[in-house]
Amino acid sequence: MDRDRRIIADGSVAVDDGRIVSVKRGLARTGKPEDVIDARGKIVMPGLICSHTHLYRVFLRGAPLKIEPPTDFSQILQRARWPMEEAMTKEDAYASALISCLEFIKTGTTLFADTFAGPNAVLGVLDKIASAVEQSGIRGIIAFEATERRTHAEGARGTKENERFIRKLKKERARRVQGMFSICASSAVSDELFRYVRELASRYKVSVSIHASEGLADVYHNYEHYGKRAIERLNDTGLLASDVVLAHCVHVNDDELAIIKKRGAKVAHNPMSNMLNAVGVAPVMKMLSVGISVGLGNDGYVFDGFENIRAAYLLQKVALRDPRAISPMEALEMATIRGAELYGLQNELGSIERGKLADIIIIDPALAPTPLRSESVVGHIVNAVDGDDVDTVIVGGNVLMRDRKMQTMEEAEVVKVARKSAEKLWQKLGLIRRR
Ligand SMILES: [Zn+2]
Repeated sequence: MDRDRRIIADGSVAVDDGRIVSVKRGLARTGKPEDVIDARGKIVMPGLICSHTHLYRVFLRGAPLKIEPPTDFSQILQRARWPMEEAMTKEDAYASALISCLEFIKTGTTLFADTFAGPNAVLGVLDKIASAVEQSGIRGIIAFEATERRTHAEGARGTKENERFIRKLKKERARRVQGMFSICASSAVSDELFRYVRELASRYKVSVSIHASEGLADVYHNYEHYGKRAIERLNDTGLLASDVVLAHCVHVNDDELAIIKKRGAKVAHNPMSNMLNAVGVAPVMKMLSVGISVGLGNDGYVFDGFENIRAAYLLQKVALRDPRAISPMEALEMATIRGAELYGLQNELGSIERGKLADIIIIDPALAPTPLRSESVVGHIVNAVDGDDVDTVIVGGNVLMRDRKMQTMEEAEVVKVARKSAEKLWQKLGLIRRR
């Protein structure tokens, strides 16, 4: 995934002190390596980047919600998501993060951007999530999602938790875990909070994550209260800049795309979540054609990055009714180098290149029925590879999984912690009975 998108057959990658020091055809001349991984017959590629997720939502998986079935996205929020968020404790945040990190690693994701929402678990919750990220060895950009849905004070409280955490990380000179600012959605906050977050993000030089035009309610709210479309309003408050990652952008028109491009803001596309919530299809190919960086997210739904790549690939074809709409390479870029661009990390991550951080995964396409060659490898990845095919995962030169065996976490123990926490949460929500 370097500038020329080179694919090297029979090559080698050498890593020293967490960084890639050589990428070449044939074996690297490195002297005496401490460790050698034989990847013959396998695919060595950059770790996947999940540009937008909510780790805590793994606890919604399979939940037998006793609710009137929602008829649209707004009702999904009101009936399913918000009650769960309100019930979340800091321990739930930790347990859900722990199992999500495990799942990410096992399926080939090495960096994610997460926002947590939970009005009753604010102060200190990012330390809990960070400790799960640290234990697993994955890379994470994490934040608390500020909202003013109930009161103005809670917007400030959530933002202050981000500020506290960012200052703490700066003091500790943390590398693998980073902080950012996060706003729920424009329909849930005032212009004052936008300005406050803009000032803080510029001061601390970190990213801002916000849901934008995901459902129609977001569009209508901004019209009704401000007489503007969502992106227009974000721009008018001064929030929109190159450090802003807009999640979704399903309902954006050409004028809004021009604003996004002009400000250098980025988009995180979440195809599977958009399909699940039936909100529509983001005009991704239009975004790419005007030069907007688009990364791929899971929005807390399906954590296997390869499934999300395939969904993005197929969805654009269906939406545009054109099998040529998107190439396998364009889909793969969103999950690697473009994802790095979203968070200003394109010089550090997103490709296997000399000097970059060694975030590398190895795929074992053992059952591939057709020849695996440099000209066929991207097609294999996008059309056929699953998270289950991930064999080895390396982050910053540390081997987190080798030959499908986790090196940093005791899988059974993580599952136990998650199940215990989720069971309590589900009981609290009245979804299951106490045993
Ligand atoms: Zn989201």
